Amino acid sequence: MREDFLPFALPDTDETEIREVEDVIRSGWLTTGARTRRFEAEFAAFIGVAHAVAVNSCTAALHLALEAIGLKEGDEVLTTPYTFAATGEVVRYFNARPVLVDVEPDRLTIDPALVERAITPRTRAIVPVHLAGLPADVDAIGDIARRHGLRVIDDAAHALPTRTRGRLVGTTADITCFSFYATKTLTTGEGGMICTDSDEWAARCQIMSLHGISRDAWNRYGAEGSWRYDVIAPGFKYNMTDIAAALGLAQLHKVDRMRERRSDIASRYSAAFGGNEALQVPPSGEAGEHAWHLYMLRLNASALTIDRASFIDRLKERRIGTSVHFIPLHVHPYYRDTFGYRPEDLPVAWTEYQREVSLPIYSRMSDRDVDSVIEAVIDVAARHRR
Ligand SMILES: *Cc1c(COP(=O)(O)O)cnc(C)c1O
Repeated sequence: MREDFLPFALPDTDETEIREVEDVIRSGWLTTGARTRRFEAEFAAFIGVAHAVAVNSCTAALHLALEAIGLKEGDEVLTTPYTFAATGEVVRYFNARPVLVDVEPDRLTIDPALVERAITPRTRAIVPVHLAGLPADVDAIGDIARRHGLRVIDDAAHALPTRTRGRLVGTTADITCFSFYATKTLTTGEGGMICTDSDEWAARCQIMSLHGISRDAWNRYGAEGSWRYDVIAPGFKYNMTDIAAALGLAQLHKVDRMRERRSDIASRYSAAFGGNEALQVPPSGEAGEHAWHLYMLRLNASALTIDRASFIDRLKERRIGTSVHFIPLHVHPYYRDTFGYRPEDLPVAWTEYQREVSLPIYSRMSDRDVDSVIEAVIDVAARHRR
């Protein structure tokens, strides 16, 4: 057994990030400036999209994306219950309604067949989540959206980098939102990015991310800046700092290497757990397409004498940190009480959530860390076999 506790997540930072942040501090320009603009340009080039707008979270990115497409009170947005709070709450910012559509049992991403049936005259957009880093069925979703005149806004908080049929997530939707939260596959501490090929939506997101100020006001205090600016809408305060952008640039340069390491870890886990009747390994998708932000193991209750909570406790006793993704939105008190959802209204999300355990998967894990997770999971499953 391990001596030290293995955290569920750790950022992959080294002297490069420290040096880059130090340079920002020494430069005297701490908030949005040249580094943020460079991070946007490099990120757009990496994804292969016309515009990338940096903001201070993925939640802000989702909010601005919905604002840019003109979401209004009373509109409906089709999204998945199998996600984090942010995906649903941004729809409520507009007094619009998040209509939760159940997920596919294997991938746990929004089920296109059910999306089609949930469309009403009030539906404006679909917000898929590429859960764990595995792409949702973007072709089917894109096809439905075209036929019904809907916008697709991807919550790609887990999907950097995720490929689907050779295309990177970030190029397949009308607008795509990434997260650089501390546990995500690229981190700036807190941060997010909006990607789109639309000049109009990119400009709107840019303006609304900084108080609705019409021109690039970030260099107001620089040599080329001017004191003059126009407020054209009541915007928000969602701009990214240059401190965060410096972290982002350093992280972007190793984003593929970090993905490869996570992919290795996932392969080792799945090879070790694959034949075990108590365990169901996550789908791996086609080669190279999965970002592996999460490794979502599922327990087969009928083969175990302990429940998911005890399984997690047993792993914790063996010094392995884990997490659960996600408590479905519709069982949280807010959604339950506001919209009258019962757990079994979205049966796949409800059932699969109850047997899910996320294992540590991050590039800083050593081979011994990976072995210790495998050993602990196999041991707990063996000791509690029915
Ligand atoms: C982390 C996360 C978000 C929110 O990202 P922030 O950058 O923390 O705002 C949104 N959606 C999903 C699925 C997430 O996991």
